[in-house]
This record gives sequence, structure tokens and C-alpha cells, in this order.
Amino acid sequence: MKEKKRSLQTPTIATNPRNILQGSSIAHFVINKDHVIVEWNRACEVLTGFSAARMIGTRNHWMPFYSGARPCLADLLIDKAPARTIYKYYKDMEIKRWDLVQGAFDIEGFLAPLGKQGKWLRFTAAPLIDARGKVIAAIETLEDITSRKLAEKEKEELTRQLLKSNRQLRNLALRDPETGLFNHRYLQEVLEAEFIRAKRYSQPLSLIMVDIDYFKSINNMYGHQFGDLVLAQLSQLLKKLVRRYDVVVRSGGEEFTIVSPGIDRWQTLVLAQRILDEINLASFGDKKHMVKLKVSLAVVSYPEDKVIKIEDLVSGAEQLLLKAKESGGNRVYTNLEGKKAKKKSVRGRKTRTETVESLRFRLDQITRRANQNLIEAIFAFAKAIELRDHYTGEHVEKTVYYALQIGRLLKLSNEEIENVRQAAILHDLGKIGISDKILLKNAKLSDEEYQEIKKHPQIAADILRPIHFLRSVIPYILYHHERWDGRGYPSGLKGQIIPVGARIIAIADVFQALTSNRPYRPAFSTEEAVRIIRQGAGTQFDPKIVKAFLILIRRKKIH
Ligand code: GH3
Ligand code: MG
Ligand code: MG
Repeated sequence: MKEKKRSLQTPTIATNPRNILQGSSIAHFVINKDHVIVEWNRACEVLTGFSAARMIGTRNHWMPFYSGARPCLADLLIDKAPARTIYKYYKDMEIKRWDLVQGAFDIEGFLAPLGKQGKWLRFTAAPLIDARGKVIAAIETLEDITSRKLAEKEKEELTRQLLKSNRQLRNLALRDPETGLFNHRYLQEVLEAEFIRAKRYSQPLSLIMVDIDYFKSINNMYGHQFGDLVLAQLSQLLKKLVRRYDVVVRSGGEEFTIVSPGIDRWQTLVLAQRILDEINLASFGDKKHMVKLKVSLAVVSYPEDKVIKIEDLVSGAEQLLLKAKESGGNRVYTNLEGKKAKKKSVRGRKTRTETVESLRFRLDQITRRANQNLIEAIFAFAKAIELRDHYTGEHVEKTVYYALQIGRLLKLSNEEIENVRQAAILHDLGKIGISDKILLKNAKLSDEEYQEIKKHPQIAADILRPIHFLRSVIPYILYHHERWDGRGYPSGLKGQIIPVGARIIAIADVFQALTSNRPYRPAFSTEEAVRIIRQGAGTQFDPKIVKAFLILIRRKKIH
């Protein structure tokens, strides 16, 4: 009984504050007003790995420790501050914090004892106040918050990744995977935003629409994959050519739209023209094939083109594009005075890099249109020949005229005459495959060079073979350099075996050639030329056709 009473009055071991502290499963330590650790419980030892014996009596326990990118709370046992400046910072903090102990403080820090894996700790402190209300010490609690911190970090990282993938997703949704350009959806967005801006700040807003001419034939000729490559290369070129503030969008399969804020129609026209010129200069493709591209461009500007809503910009450009195509493509169209803008066509411009391949491609393009208008197509092609050979244009026209005259005199059928006409237009097409060095040589050709030239009928036939509607014309082209005596080329055909159309073109061609200036000799007079033709009767030419030719000369149908 007595025993019991005494135990109630005298504090037991368990109720001794120091023992409470020691027995607690929570890490506690006490510092006095001189910042000296006076208590360090068992849980502290377990948590930090530092024994009470080592810790008690230690001062400066806020000694800073620098870990990674941010200064962390003191490593309790590092007694040499690694960074003096931070140390000072913490020292200043410490004084303030001590004042704060009047209330309580709560701080999170990273404890990184040497040689051990660091832990995130939460420090909380509360003042121990004596009977007079004076702070005599602070009791601090350490809590391992590593797992929470890691979870937080993980969450941060996840959020960051989420934001990143959201950005990527948006980018994916707005970009075309083939070319890396923005897609049609983005065009809508950017146009809406720029249009509002243009109106608000009274700034012009222009749009350039670019559509590749006859792109289908590139696919047909070289395959869809090659077409994709060309599209990607063109996209890169477009991106390079526009200004910094312009946005290039792949608005359709082989159609691109450039949004140009802040420039008026005239400035945009200059840009569009530059784009056209650069595209014409460039070659597209891979090691195996290279192609030239022709493109049509349309320029529409707000406010110059009576643009009231965004749709007006787009539909205006689409209409202009159609017009550009209708007039042959490879040009820039704008509403400038309701007429086509400064136009520039590669036609008439010499393109030395034109290859048989690209000619074939060109011809394929023409075939498509030819379904609508055969005659027009053939003439368009004849113009392609002018590209190569500056004298061929006129040469073609005269040859056609002479051949038709002869054909009529010989009373060929209308169909035959039409074939002769087409063959006469296309007969020198194969020269496209002969190098300019030979074609435009100023002196007489060497044997080797002559052998090269002799390939042109075959080249023409090869190019034209896939074109269905020209099938009956091809023999006239292929054999227009055969001779009556069998000593011509490419096959050495003789006499009547040579198709009549080819025999006619042979005379028309030679007569025309003789009567025109050549790089290596001046033109012969008509009389001289007639004499040469007459001499060739029975050897080079079909005598009957020579006769017809002479009749025409006499009748002054040919002069
Ligand atoms: P036009 O001169 O009238 O513009 O003729 P076109 O053949 O260029 O134009 P059209 O609009 O008749 O046909 C477009 C073609 O572009 C159809 C398709 O074969 C090709 N095309 C569209 N998108 C792609 C693509 O992503 N890759 C490839 N390789 N070809 C494409
Ligand atoms: Mg198109
Ligand atoms: Mg096109």
C-alpha cells in the first residue's frame, strides 16, 4: 500500500522526461540555447546512424551541406562546411530560426551522411519554456520522409512527362508525319489567329498556295515511295525559302499553303516568285532518279483581295490556282489587276539538266491533258523540244508545213496526214537525250559525236512508246533518218519498207535544215537546197516524193 502511494508521488523511470524521450519511437533530440545538442534519443540513432555519444555536445548542427542543385539542411555530422557561403547563409537563418523557436518551426531537408544513402528528413522544433516563459531549449523531432519525397518526385516526373507527351500529341495531331510540316488542322488554327491579329492591328495577311503540277505522273513513273521522297524534299525546300514568321503547311497531298503575316500582296508575290524560281532550279529524288518539279502558286492577300472572312483567302487562292493550272502551270497567279502576275515559265528557258527521264515525265503529264485535247498536247510537247535546242522551234514549224504540203499532194488520207503532222512535230524529240555539247557544237561533229546524234530517233521512240494515241506516229519518227538506198539509220531500212510518213518527213526535215543557219555553217539558198534534194532522189530520198516536193517548189508552195 505504502509502496503504491510512493510510486504515485515519485516519478518513475517511465515518467522521467529524459526517459520518455529515450523510449519514444519517434526521433527526438534537444538543443540548448547555445545550439549544443544535449539529448539524442535511440530513435535518432537509428534514423541517422549517429550515436548519442557522438552527437551530444556537438554544436553547429545546422552546418550546411550542399547536395546537388539545392542547398539542403545540415548534415548533422559533417563538421567541416563544404561551402562557406552557404554556411553563412544558414548561420544567418539559424539565428532567425532560433527566434522562431519561440513558436515552432518545421523544415524539410536532405540528410546525406557520408558513405550512406541519403534520407529526406523533416525537422520540427518546439521550444521548451521555463516557468517564467523563457525559452531554455528546443526539442526537435526528426521524421523520415524519404518515401513521401520520392513519391512526390515521381509524381513531378510523371507530370513533366505527361505534359511533354501532351505536347508531343498535340504536335502529332498538328503535324504531317511524312514531311514534318504542319497539317491542315493547324492551318485552320493559325489562319484564325493570324486573321484576328491582322484585323486588330491593321496588318496585311497573305497566303501562298502551292500545288505541284502533274504530280500523279511522278508517282506513276517512279512509284509512290519516290513521290513521298520528293514531297519531303520539297517540304524542306519550302521551309528554307520562307521567312521566319511564315508558316508552311501541307494542306493536301501535293499541295502546300504558306501563311505569311505582315506582308502585302506585292511582297508576297515576290516571295512566291522566288519560291517558284528556286523549285525550278532544284532537282528532287535519289541516286537512281532525279526529277524536276513544276508548281503552280496562287497569292491572296488580306485586305487587298476583298477578303472579308478567312474562307475568302483560301477559296480565292484555290480559284487562282486553277487558273494557273489552266494556263499551263509552273507560274504564280494573283488577282493583280485581275490578270495573271508576272509570269515565268520554264518554257523558253534553257534547262540543261533536262533528262530523258524528266522528259518522259513531262510527256506523261501531257498525255493526261491530251485525253482532253490531243492537238494542244502535241504542240505543248513541241515546245518542250524548244527547251533543248534553240533552232528546233522554228525548224519544227517549217518541217510540219513542208511535210503536210507533200502529204496532201500525194493524196494521203486525212488520218495519214494527221499522223504525218504529229510525227513532224515530234520527230526531233529524241534530241532531248543528246548532250548540248554535241547539239550546239560550233564545228563539224566528230564520228563519235555523230554516232550520238544518230541515237535521237530511237530515244524519241522510247519516250513515246507508252503513249497509246501516238502509236501509229512512232514509226514515222523512228525512221525519218532512213535512206531510200538503205544506208540510213537506225535500222538501215530500204525503199518502200520505210513508212511513207517517214519518207516525207525525211525530205521536209533535210530541206528545212539546209535552208536554216546552223551553229557550224550559214543557211544554203533555196536553189542550192533544192538542188541537193534533187540529187538525193533515189539514193537518200524516195524519188516519187522528191518529185512531189519539186512540184511544190515550182508552185511556190514551198520556198
Ligand atoms: P495537277 O497538275 O492538276 O495538279 O495534277 P496532279 O497530278 O499534281 O494533281 P491531282 O490533284 O490530280 O492529283 C494529286 C496526286 O498527288 C494524286 C496522288 O497520286 C498524289 N499524291 C497525293 N498525296 C500524295 C502522297 O502523300 N504521296 C505521294 N507519293 N503522292 C501523293
Ligand atoms: Mg492537286
Ligand atoms: Mg498537283
